[in-house]
Amino acid sequence: MKISQLAHLTDAATCSRLVVKVGSALLVGKDGQPRREWLAALVAEIAAMRARGQEVIVVSSGAIALGARKLGLAKGGRGSLSDAQAAAAVGQIALAGLWAELLAGHGITAAQVLLTLEDLEDRRRYLNVTATMGTLLAAGAVPVINENDTVATQEIRFGDNDRLAARVGQAAGAKGVLLLSDIDGLYDRDPRQPGAVRIPVVKGVTPEIHAMATGGSSSGLGSGGMTSKLQAAEIAEMAGIALAIIDGQPLSPVQAALGADRGTLFLPRGRKQARKAWLGGKLRVRGAVHVDAGAAAALAKGSSLLAAGVTAVDGDFRRGDAVEVQGPDGATLARGLSEYDAAECARVMGRQSAEHEEILGYAPRSALIHRDQMVLI
Ligand code: GLU
Repeated sequence: MKISQLAHLTDAATCSRLVVKVGSALLVGKDGQPRREWLAALVAEIAAMRARGQEVIVVSSGAIALGARKLGLAKGGRGSLSDAQAAAAVGQIALAGLWAELLAGHGITAAQVLLTLEDLEDRRRYLNVTATMGTLLAAGAVPVINENDTVATQEIRFGDNDRLAARVGQAAGAKGVLLLSDIDGLYDRDPRQPGAVRIPVVKGVTPEIHAMATGGSSSGLGSGGMTSKLQAAEIAEMAGIALAIIDGQPLSPVQAALGADRGTLFLPRGRKQARKAWLGGKLRVRGAVHVDAGAAAALAKGSSLLAAGVTAVDGDFRRGDAVEVQGPDGATLARGLSEYDAAECARVMGRQSAEHEEILGYAPRSALIHRDQMVLI
């Protein structure tokens, strides 16, 4: 079932995997101290989602705000890039510690993951992020993600965690992203203006929708604002993920917003169509693998491509590059991201998975192309 209303985001049947993004102003008070009581209530909500069978990934800001206070830096640590990076180095320890402690109170293990924009742009690292996220969630952990502010340079920073949350949702195959904001959604004009009306559902982030955003984070603590939230909504939409903006300020904000159906829900495009656009449109195909009739039949049923069914490898591609899968008659059957480079593919082709470790000299991947990274043509 597709997500078509806010309440679906906490329903395990419609949204099996959810990203929850928490902004700095919600986590850190104006005095630079963590807002423990508020966070404890949110963590209880996350624990309840897990208990209902939902997998939850947290994207948490707050490192810069927490660290700035400890280092005594002006402007909340956002006066210069090096201030922000130094503040993040200090604050991230406290931030991760806080999440770990509060989640542990519900018997849940937290996993810290720090990412840069480059990690999600580079296909090889992207595949690793995807695999790690899957392993953490399967093992019952809650990944707590932030940008790796300290090593990122200006050009490779997300800068705001709204877009990071959407990209993480895409990499982790999430169905929904929930942005906890300091406002209860997108308004048709500056919400301070009289007569401003909240838009409950957005179908497609059009130029008219962009024109409604006023930009800028009102709190001054975070870097987001409505402009970056709309950019996140665009990424999510293209990836076939539903994204919602709700007011994070009340205690137990998820229940408060979803119970009252208060927020803005950006509807996703069809998942299949979105994945096709991503794999088919954007990526240059770097090679091809030819498969036998058995593998072709397995692919058509939705299986991953295993090396045993591969008969030949063309091109000089690297792990993470897009390749075509061609059937015994030369017709293109699918397109996907290769888990191995071309030379490795050639070494394992036609061989059973149990032999791969010995052939490669390292622990093999579960498939040559995983079905989540493949579209049938
Ligand atoms: N990564 C930054 C931090 O932890 C926050 C970025 C944002 O404000 O969205 O402080």
